[in-house]
Parts: sequence; structure tokens; C-alpha cells
Amino acid sequence: MRLFELLKKQRYKVFNHSAVKLCLWTKKSIRDLGFCYKQKFYGIESHRCMQCTPAVGWCTMRCRFCWRPITETCEGLKIPEENDPEEIVENLIKLHRTLLTGLGGVPHNEKKLREARDPRHAAISLAGEPMVYSKMDGLLKEFHKRGMTTFLVTNGTFPERVVNLKELPTQLYVSVCAPNRRIFKSVNSPVIPDAWERLNRTLEILNDIGTTTVIRLTLAKGLNFTEPNGYGKLIKKASPDFVEVKAAMPVGFAKDRLEYSQMPLHREIKEFSEKISSVTGYILKDEKEDSRVVLLSRE
Ligand code: SF4
Repeated sequence: MRLFELLKKQRYKVFNHSAVKLCLWTKKSIRDLGFCYKQKFYGIESHRCMQCTPAVGWCTMRCRFCWRPITETCEGLKIPEENDPEEIVENLIKLHRTLLTGLGGVPHNEKKLREARDPRHAAISLAGEPMVYSKMDGLLKEFHKRGMTTFLVTNGTFPERVVNLKELPTQLYVSVCAPNRRIFKSVNSPVIPDAWERLNRTLEILNDIGTTTVIRLTLAKGLNFTEPNGYGKLIKKASPDFVEVKAAMPVGFAKDRLEYSQMPLHREIKEFSEKISSVTGYILKDEKEDSRVVLLSRE
């Protein structure tokens, strides 16, 4: 299938329906060239992070700023022949280690490269909608059993699966990329009829899900960088612990759909965050300029 050829070119390593890819910040950190905003905000170690997904080709949306090849998405919302969680985690860690070997040939921090082979954090956010995978409980359990923390990023269209999670991620992210239904349809291009309603149900569930919750706004000019009041309403519905207000980045296949000029400057992201803060009462807690992101906190 063309999708997997394209992913291979982008240095994804694929295991059946799952995949892993070295994050730019993992590489930078191993070379002592900086670390990601999640290390700054939440203390995870970028060099010991494994960026992965159990549903690399499946999603309920075709977001304009998505970095995967959205025109090449697997049919349907059921993964045929799903692997068991243990198999997935074992094989993704093996593939992650093969990706790290490439860093041995460039100047790097030897201690960090050694440690990176033993990942301590799983960023389940690489591509596709992870909740399409029906055994997420088991997958989270497998990572936690290995002493790894987990950040799970969902687009919110599987409320029934989120509410039934017995094993919770260390941090649960919901991507909110539109202040209202009209912009949602044009920016996220959902392939299911009730995506907006499903997202809103997930936001309601977040209130008392029992783990740290984050709403992430990924914003692009000319698309969804508008109506802070609309975002404020959705944030209040979910009352997450944190809100990340972030510029969309034209990376991967998003380069074909987004201009650099559509990326809000950090100053503009900060101004937008201040408007959301005044609507919601959330406070500005932190920021990282080179990632054009601001962190708002409920307390
Ligand atoms: S947490 Fe995200 S940005 Fe940070 S190293 Fe992992 S995948 Fe990259």
C-alpha cells in the first residue's frame, strides 16, 4: 500500500499496524542541542522518549495541519488482525533501537545515547488516531509495566473507549483544533458524521477521568487561529489540568498543505493565550519560544 512506502521514506519503522519514529527533539537532546517543551513543562526526558502509535494508518479525521499523508488513510475504523499489546511494545522498542543506531555516527552525548536505548516515556501521538486500536488498556499496562510514563493523544472521537479505560495514561491529551462546528468541519474534515458531538462528549468525560488531562490547541492562521471565546467554552466544558496553545508546524506531509506564513509567531500565540486566560480563568504557567507554545494551568 502506498501509505507504508511513504512512511518508510519519512523514516517511520512499521510493525504491522503500529509504528515508531525518532522525534526531532529526541535526536537533538541526544546531541545536546536542546529538548522538547514537554521536558520543560512536565519533566519527561526527551532523549528517553519513544514516539509511537498503534494505528499508523487509521483516523477519523483528515486535519489540514496533520503531518501524515492524509490522502493515504486505511479504509474503515477497525484494524484487521490487531496485535496484542505485549507484541507491539516489544517490537516497537526493538525498532526504536534500530533507529537510534544512526546517531552513533554524528557528534553526540554517549551517556544519553546509551540511556535512549532504554526508553522511559511513550508519546502515543505519532500518527493516526490511537483509540482506533481496541486494546489500549493492555497497551498502556505494557508500557507502565516497563516503568514507562505515557502521554496518550486522542482527537476525541472515541468517547466510549476513553470512558471505559481501566488503565489510564500518565497524561491524557485531547486535540481541540476548532472553536466551533463550522470551523471543525473545514479544518478537521472528519470522515464520520457525528465527530463534533463525539469530541464534545469526550470533553465532558475529561472532568473526572482520574489522570492528568491536557487540551492541546494546534493553531494555523487562515484556518483556526480565531475566536478565543469559542475555545474558552470548550475548555470550560472539560476543565482540564492544562491547556497547551501551540502553533501548527508545516512538517512532514503538512508541508504540502500549510505555508510557513500560516504559523503564528510566538508573540501571537502568547496574545491568543492571554485572551483564552481571560475567558477561562486559566493562568499562564510556562512557554517555550522555539516550539511556539504556551502552557495554561487551571491552578
Ligand atoms: S514528548 Fe513529544 S516532542 Fe518530546 S521528545 Fe517525545 S515525541 Fe518528541
